[in-house]
Amino acid sequence: MLAPRSLDVAEDTIRPSATGMTLLQDPVLNKGSAFSREERARLGIDGLLPPHVSTMDEQMKRVLANVRGQADDLQRYTELIALLDRNETLFYRVVMENLDEMMPLIYTPVVGKACQLYGHIFRRPRGLFITRHEKGRIRDVLRHWPHRNVRVIVVTDGERILGLGDLGANGMGIPVGKLSLYTACAGVHPSCTLPITLDVGTNAQSLLEDPLYLGVQEKRLVGREYDELVEEFVTAVQEIFPHALIQWEDFANHNAFRILEKYRDRVCSFNDDIQGTAAVTLSGLISSARLTGVALKDQRFLFCGAGEAAIGIADLIVSALKAEGVSEADARGRCWFIDSKALVESTRKDLQDHKKPYAHKHAPVTDLLAAVKELKPTSIIGVSGKQGQFTKELIEEMARLNKRPVIFALSNPTDNSECTARQAYEWSDGRAVFASGSPFPPVTYKGATFVSGQGNNAYIFPGVGLGVVVAGSSRVTDEMFFVAAKTLSAAVTKEDLDQGRIYPALQMINEVSAVIGTAVAEVAYARGLATEAKPADLERHVRSLQYKPVYKKYV
Ligand code: NAD
Repeated sequence: MLAPRSLDVAEDTIRPSATGMTLLQDPVLNKGSAFSREERARLGIDGLLPPHVSTMDEQMKRVLANVRGQADDLQRYTELIALLDRNETLFYRVVMENLDEMMPLIYTPVVGKACQLYGHIFRRPRGLFITRHEKGRIRDVLRHWPHRNVRVIVVTDGERILGLGDLGANGMGIPVGKLSLYTACAGVHPSCTLPITLDVGTNAQSLLEDPLYLGVQEKRLVGREYDELVEEFVTAVQEIFPHALIQWEDFANHNAFRILEKYRDRVCSFNDDIQGTAAVTLSGLISSARLTGVALKDQRFLFCGAGEAAIGIADLIVSALKAEGVSEADARGRCWFIDSKALVESTRKDLQDHKKPYAHKHAPVTDLLAAVKELKPTSIIGVSGKQGQFTKELIEEMARLNKRPVIFALSNPTDNSECTARQAYEWSDGRAVFASGSPFPPVTYKGATFVSGQGNNAYIFPGVGLGVVVAGSSRVTDEMFFVAAKTLSAAVTKEDLDQGRIYPALQMINEVSAVIGTAVAEVAYARGLATEAKPADLERHVRSLQYKPVYKKYV
């Protein structure tokens, strides 16, 4: 059943590579108190465990009680990571069966706090760190990784972690968290994933002065030295893990766009902050159109922020509109941006390259509310990383202009959100179609309950990665993200929409990822990018390769 370079889906019964205490201390093999009596006798662990043989359900109950009993979310995160270090299968079972509760702990918003405090709460290393001191021998560092069948690498240089800025080596929590979502949301086997931090230093003074900081305590590498390190890293990955997809993660935008452009046609890689965000947001906009009745091609979008997320979303909207027959110029003309200074328009002389295609003719405008009044957008999309940008006045104005204003406050973590779900619903008198980057609880307003959508990239990147890996695609293309966005939107049911929800329930994510993975793999086959033979039933094949968190029987 296994394809060549498979996702490492192993048989139900295996012969473990360790026995005795070594077996109990191996998080991949360990089953804790769930080892059967025969296994305990055969594998030399009799007496090393308390006598009761637990079922996985009993173990899960214990874990959930412990996690929930912690004093705060950071401690819940620490408890979960400790479980991952002890018993990987149980960790994934707990996470996958309780995604609504666990996702905010292992990813945004709590992972942000965990990153900020990385050096202070550090217990065990996870992933690979590469610094300028390894220059010339990055291949050797990659060889230190214990697994050979690496299929997905998430790599950061820690310069723009969530909306938190430069966290240097502390950013490692992000590749770790994202890869755990590849497994939990799409079933990519954990042993096929590799988190990497390119620790090129940090410019955050607080970290440079923190005696417990664990990264290189130097200012960031820039220019040629930086580029050479990234280049050596990419070349080394191609040699040591030739079938690995590289996901660029949380790079600051001055590097993110450059790196994406430099490598997207050379190696199998993508940038989730640009392309994954774009797809999940486009999907939300397609679904919103089902609620507002205003077709995508009749909308006007105003972005608060003009960085990686904003430009990535706009570029994909342009592709989507072009696919609907709108000209490129017209499509771009529907996307407007305000950055930290002013409206992005043609008289500005200070624009970075990525903003220039959207610098339309317009007189200067310096504030967001004035821009809304002048441009009359149907949708406002907050990707500024700055809290509170969507004021009461602004949302009231959007509600005056539109029967159903589309308000996406995507900045992470929660504290950075441009507005809260409650504010969006209350200030629009219950008419907003709202989505956020970090989750908000349901809101009851005037007797109605609104379940807002979380524009979580986890709806997209794990499924895209799964499809790329199953097909052995040599590249990741924009078409794949476009197809992923449409597939995600098609998974939103009428019941979801009736509650105001423009994304499927999180508990559906594994199912949705399988369908996205299939659609993405189809693109790889159709475009001649696949290196794996195409199976007769692709969707079934994709599902058969998905990891399931169940214990294997040891013989
Ligand atoms: P970025 O640093 O590339 O861009 C930030 C942009 O915001 C810049 O153009 C900056 O000029 C602008 N900005 C700053 N202050 C502003 C202000 N007061 N008014 C208007 N614009 C302002 O960052 P990014 O990668 O684009 O991410 C931005 C935010 O989006 C982050 O908070 C991130 O967490 C969030 N994000 C959310 C998702 C998601 O929900 N799925 C995905 C990716 C990013």
